[in-house]
Amino acid sequence: RAKDAGRNNFAFFTEDLGERVMGALRLENDLRKALARKDFVLHYQPRVDMLTGQITGMEALVRWSQPDGGLVSPADFIPLAEETGLILSLGEWVLEEACRQTALWSAEGLGALKVSVNLSPRQLEQPGLTGRTLALLERTGLPPEQLEVEVTESVFLKDFGMVSQALSALAEAGVGVALDDFGTGYSSLAYLKKLPIKTLKIDKSFVDGLPLDRDDAAIVTSIVSIAANLNMDVVAEGVESSAQLEFLRRLNCCSSFQGYLFARPLAASEFALLMARGGYYDFKDHLK
Ligand code: C2E
Ligand code: MG
Ligand code: MG
Ligand code: MG
Repeated sequence: RAKDAGRNNFAFFTEDLGERVMGALRLENDLRKALARKDFVLHYQPRVDMLTGQITGMEALVRWSQPDGGLVSPADFIPLAEETGLILSLGEWVLEEACRQTALWSAEGLGALKVSVNLSPRQLEQPGLTGRTLALLERTGLPPEQLEVEVTESVFLKDFGMVSQALSALAEAGVGVALDDFGTGYSSLAYLKKLPIKTLKIDKSFVDGLPLDRDDAAIVTSIVSIAANLNMDVVAEGVESSAQLEFLRRLNCCSSFQGYLFARPLAASEFALLMARGGYYDFKDHLK
């Protein structure tokens, strides 16, 4: 009986594994087709200035559009895109679309918004990224100052020479560099000094516990102080409550906020509407 059970378990296991492999292959295949058809959209999450409440920029976040009108979250396909290398062409599309849209909004009078685009470590390792990005800015007419790239600490695990060269060239040209999800990865303070990082994005996981969790409060206070001393801006991610907002505003150092308290990532048309109505939040409405 034990033997039977063992065999059954094994059969069950291989079937399950087989299914998972098939699932991943199907997903990869679908992703390839979607890339050829450009079945993706960007949503834009406002970034709100901590002093004025004005929307000064937005983070471009990719979604995969489905035939039924549904949208697949990046969490469900970015990892596979990274594994398969498809992230390279997806990333190119995202950069192009974000720059095109932002230049168009400037031309339409919505202001000189700064758009933040997430770069995968694989993009940074790819030769020619800087040249292509600068050519893209030329082509779309977007001033480099209106583009920011977000990288995570995982880039520090890559070829440092390559990453630092790419980021320096972008920074030299006027493109902003932000360190995303700061504090969750392979933080080495030495990298903050060696790379041309202008902005630290405090990860949502530290904002979540504010103001009551003493560890989170201490971590966020420390990040803000490091940033101030290194002359960097800070963006707090994942601000959902007025109590969090109050804590962050008291620190008086967070340059801007991003979070559901103000807005979720919005379709381009919704974002444009928000800007056309002034693109401004009165913090009084969001504080108790
Ligand atoms: P991220 O770059 O850290 O982006 C922030 C994520 O937090 C977004 O999720 C955003 O919707 C979510 N968020 C912002 N504020 C709040 C809040 O107040 N509450 C909660 N619960 N969530 C909030 P999203 O759009 O699902 O993106 C997830 C991740 O996927 C991004 O994390 C980024 O790492 C990756 N990603 C998205 N677009 C791209 C892209 O174009 N290229 C690459 N390489 N990665 C991307
Ligand atoms: Mg990001
Ligand atoms: Mg982040
Ligand atoms: Mg994140």
